[in-house]
Amino acid sequence: MSTHNTGSARTTDTTTTSTAPTNPAASGSAASSPHLRTETFTCVRCGLTVGVLDPSGGRRDHCPSCLHSRHLRDHVTGGPADCGARMTPIAIAVPRGGGWTLVHRCTACATLSTGQVAPDDNQLVLVRLAVRPIAQPPFPLEAFGDL
Ligand SMILES: [Zn+2]
Ligand SMILES: [Zn+2]
Repeated sequence: MSTHNTGSARTTDTTTTSTAPTNPAASGSAASSPHLRTETFTCVRCGLTVGVLDPSGGRRDHCPSCLHSRHLRDHVTGGPADCGARMTPIAIAVPRGGGWTLVHRCTACATLSTGQVAPDDNQLVLVRLAVRPIAQPPFPLEAFGDL
């Protein structure tokens, strides 16, 4: 057993202050899922080509123009649905905590589902849905005139 000792002490006493150009800003985009940004679907009712992400970054489940959707998800199991039929927007729901939720009913199997309203959803169609119960009341509304 021989210990091989290499006494080579290499000292560098050159104090060079190298200014490395480190620019932390604008390095690396915040695109978490780039394939979602380009993924689209075609509306089964109006034929509009729709990006799956809305302006706020949420995932769409309905067309922003006519608000129709497709029955692609099983709302009991959470997995994919075999139905694939068109889903009609039938109502606006306001859950506790606020915000509008769109209620869809499948035209084939009558399954109900809910989805978030996107910032660029057609506001005229949304308001039409919201006022429909008041516009077609099952009893006269004159009784509330004195309130
Ligand atoms: Zn549409
Ligand atoms: Zn269905």
